Amino acid sequence: MKIKKLYINTIGCQMNVYDSEQIAERLHRIGYVTETRVEEADLVIINTCSIREKAEQKAFSFLGRLAKMKRDKPRLIVGVCGCVAQQEGQKIIERMPHIDFVLGTQAIDRLPAAIERIEKHPCRIVDVDMSQVIQESADISAPPKPHEVSRFVTIMRGCDNFCTYCVVPYVRGREMSRDPEKIISEIKSLVVNGIREITLLGQNVNSYGQKQDLCDFPTLLKQINDIDGLFRLRFTTSHPKDLSDDLIDTFQSVEKLCYHIHLPVQSGSNDVLARMNRRYTREKYLEKVIRLRETCPEIAITSDIIVGFPGETRADFEQTKALIERVEFDSLFAFIYSDRPSAPSGRFKGKVTEKEKKQRLQEVFDLQAHITQKIHSGMKGTVQEVLVEGYSKKQVDENRSRAPEAVQWTGRTTGNKIVNFVQGDSCIDKSVEVGKMVHVRIEKTFPHSLWGSVVTCDPGHSLAKGEESYAA
Ligand code: SAM
Ligand code: SF4
Repeated sequence: MKIKKLYINTIGCQMNVYDSEQIAERLHRIGYVTETRVEEADLVIINTCSIREKAEQKAFSFLGRLAKMKRDKPRLIVGVCGCVAQQEGQKIIERMPHIDFVLGTQAIDRLPAAIERIEKHPCRIVDVDMSQVIQESADISAPPKPHEVSRFVTIMRGCDNFCTYCVVPYVRGREMSRDPEKIISEIKSLVVNGIREITLLGQNVNSYGQKQDLCDFPTLLKQINDIDGLFRLRFTTSHPKDLSDDLIDTFQSVEKLCYHIHLPVQSGSNDVLARMNRRYTREKYLEKVIRLRETCPEIAITSDIIVGFPGETRADFEQTKALIERVEFDSLFAFIYSDRPSAPSGRFKGKVTEKEKKQRLQEVFDLQAHITQKIHSGMKGTVQEVLVEGYSKKQVDENRSRAPEAVQWTGRTTGNKIVNFVQGDSCIDKSVEVGKMVHVRIEKTFPHSLWGSVVTCDPGHSLAKGEESYAA
């Protein structure tokens, strides 16, 4: 039987990365193998994102390039999944004659049947039905690849918050949490197969379980913490309005939970926050930051900022900068506001010019670069616990010929900072390996990473909570 090759292009957030893994797993079951070269593929799928205009443009430009491939190879099957598929549906098929199928965000389980139909009798399919029920197939997660240590697991889908700039509630549907038992069995099977770090995904993990009367999020974290063989647990994203004291306390009580929270603030101006429908004020946000730091002084806090929201004045923007300076985020994702189909803010008055938006974005980047540099410099000389993920990027090929003590490795701290490091000569009897915990002394710092040498590489030795970093 001819091997059928699948190429997936994933655009967007970690949730899309998770969905692409789900798509691949389902298609492996009907005989497809994953291919990394698009020109070799029999089936090309683009898993799209429509959160910002730029991501959507990227998706359409890739789809446009596939038209020639389809002319040269008529049996090629081309499909669109994800948020743009959900948003545009039938219009994509009408606009692009080379597309065979468009499947929405809640149709992943129906994908294999759609492909088999097209393979048997070439036809064009649009399925953007939002069933409201999360399909839970047995054995849902794809087995980890060799040397993979970290995985995302989606615990909820959709969103009920309706921030006025955001397309998610329209393209991903209402918030639905997955059954905790299914989540735990998925994580257990990943851990048995070598995964050591799990990041739980949801648009607002803080409200996990509430709508369907399942367990709450802190309880879910505690249950996952008990899984043997799991070293680290992370989650994203937290909506500030729902960040409860109970959840903040888990940074002390849940041993495997990493000291990092992504807490998108979006703006430092109360006027803008109200028009965004974020349902917190800058004062409330700052209170949560203080509570987090009182509970866990080492916690790394990262955030999202939107610049140029309709009606954002220079004074509003200055308040955002003042908040960034006050909190001193570890890092930031800053975005230029774009109108999105269905999102109400598209109709708001007071549009900010593109030139001004770019200027504000640059100011945020410059300010944050300065803060990150200060935080990184303060880490020089500390010892950090690092989960080894693999060879450092620049060294992948060179490493084969290096002596063990000179091989360059990469991993992350509990605060999610990238550390590149060498084994050095401090642990001659034991060696660094992917999936092990090591302690690294930070010797140099860079804007986006840290550099150091291993001081302990004993996988059994883990520092107690609260003393994972100490000055040398
Ligand atoms: N659920 C998360 C939350 O509430 O913060 C974020 C989800 S969204 C996928 C990721 C980020 O994209 C948002 O935090 C926001 O900063 C940005 N974003 C969303 N819609 C946007 C828009 N229309 N223009 C620019 N940035 C946008
Ligand atoms: Fe979008 Fe707001 Fe929901 Fe986040 S919380 S996904 S920004 S609507």
